[in-house]
Amino acid sequence: MPHERLAGKRALVTAAGQGIGRAAAEAMAAAGATVLASDINDAALDDLTGPGITTSALDVTDSAALRGVVARFAPDILFNCAGLVHAGTVLDAADQDWAAAFAVNVTAQAVAIQAALPTMIEQGGGAIINMASVVSSVMGVPNRCVYGATKAAVIGLTKSVAADFITQGIRCNCICPGTVDSPSLHERLRATGDYEAALAGFIARQKMGRLARPAEIAGLVVYLASDESAYVTGQEFIIDGGMSL
Ligand code: NAD
Repeated sequence: MPHERLAGKRALVTAAGQGIGRAAAEAMAAAGATVLASDINDAALDDLTGPGITTSALDVTDSAALRGVVARFAPDILFNCAGLVHAGTVLDAADQDWAAAFAVNVTAQAVAIQAALPTMIEQGGGAIINMASVVSSVMGVPNRCVYGATKAAVIGLTKSVAADFITQGIRCNCICPGTVDSPSLHERLRATGDYEAALAGFIARQKMGRLARPAEIAGLVVYLASDESAYVTGQEFIIDGGMSL
């Protein structure tokens, strides 16, 4: 039965306050998982309720807090979703932009994986899902230099973890969405100064002619978290409405 796909599994999600992380937390709970939904913005978690869901304030750049939350919850499924977007070319990127983006988009994923692996290995397995992007080693787009570099690193991290722990029951995959209709996307569109033109441009680069819904990405998260993907590891899953075609 579809609602039992994650029965008995414990899933930890970062950046679950809104967007893809929230949709994934809801989808995994609906599939029977016990979900710990975390976000730096604990107010955003207030209305994230329902059977199987508990919440926790968590800034993924606070390594000690991240290690503590992951170790205490002991997830079978880890969805590293937190990420931030830097806008600009390489000429626009200050040293602190590189540091901030790698801290959230890459290092925090690695820290969470370090904290989750011992228990996963002890229990005979686990599923790790990292959030990358089609803007990565898959393709370049204008004004996303720092972002694309970090998301390419996520793909490298994913393959490395998959290769190192494949014999211990650990699967590690990552997701490469195109443009997803999430709250922060609208902030980025407003920041361009011409919301309508920017939205039209983002939709135009999706060859299907529309943005993705967060729930469409969440469906892939559930698949990668479940035993249906038991023979799948080390892969980057492009889910982009044809953006990279
Ligand atoms: P979003 O950007 O709308 O929301 C991000 C959430 O992350 C917010 O709730 C925010 O409070 C939380 N957050 C920010 N910094 C945090 C931190 N340090 N610790 C914990 N939580 C933190 O969500 P989204 O657009 O769905 O993006 C989620 C992920 O998907 C990101 O990694 C993003 O790079 C990736 N992604 C998004 C798109 C897109 O078009 N929206 C495309 C490809 C990949």
